[in-house]
Amino acid sequence: MVEWLRASTEAVRAESDRLTELDSAIGDADHGTNMRRGFTAVMTTLDAEERATPGGVLLVAGRTLVSTVGGASGPLFGTLLRRSGKALGEAERVSDEDVRDALRAGVAAVGQLGGAALGDKTMLDALLPAVAELPDYAAAARAAEEGAKATIPLRAHKGRASYLGERSVGHEDPGAASAALLLGALFQVSR
Ligand code: ADP
Ligand code: MG
Ligand code: MG
Repeated sequence: MVEWLRASTEAVRAESDRLTELDSAIGDADHGTNMRRGFTAVMTTLDAEERATPGGVLLVAGRTLVSTVGGASGPLFGTLLRRSGKALGEAERVSDEDVRDALRAGVAAVGQLGGAALGDKTMLDALLPAVAELPDYAAAARAAEEGAKATIPLRAHKGRASYLGERSVGHEDPGAASAALLLGALFQVSR
């Protein structure tokens, strides 16, 4: 889990400008900054922690995202990690099936918190098809990537982009692009 978060942080840092560009088209041009700030704080927090269970790592990471990211993505990705961590519980070792179940619970919690459904042009359009493919990490990463690209022709129904109505069509959702980075990082560390 620590390696996943580290790889995610690297991906977010590398793609931060692209994420902000996507958000400048249909939002307020802060998504890359938000994600970079949040994940940098996650790594700082985790480096200071001595040892923890896989679930504990995700709980701490999720809490850090919620408290360091002002935008909508902080509480949403924070909830994804916190709820997933809670699902893993106190176990010292977790299987790929445990990870699958945990991430599915985490994604469901994101849906509950934000009230978005598939096709609303949010991070869920990448997250939902991805967790459906787990525990096949390669297929999950691919599904997240395809899900993010598939938000381009959609009209946003949630979040800041929804204020644009029809003008949100034709742009990739930044949160979905970030979700694809996280799933790509998970695949990378699973190999
Ligand atoms: P803000 O919109 O507050 O500036 P960010 O730019 O960091 O926050 O994040 C925007 C992303 O958050 C969107 O691209 C979308 O994927 C996601 N998002 C916004 N609202 C919701 C929601 N209700 N449910 C799921 N995801 C959402
Ligand atoms: Mg924004
Ligand atoms: Mg903002």
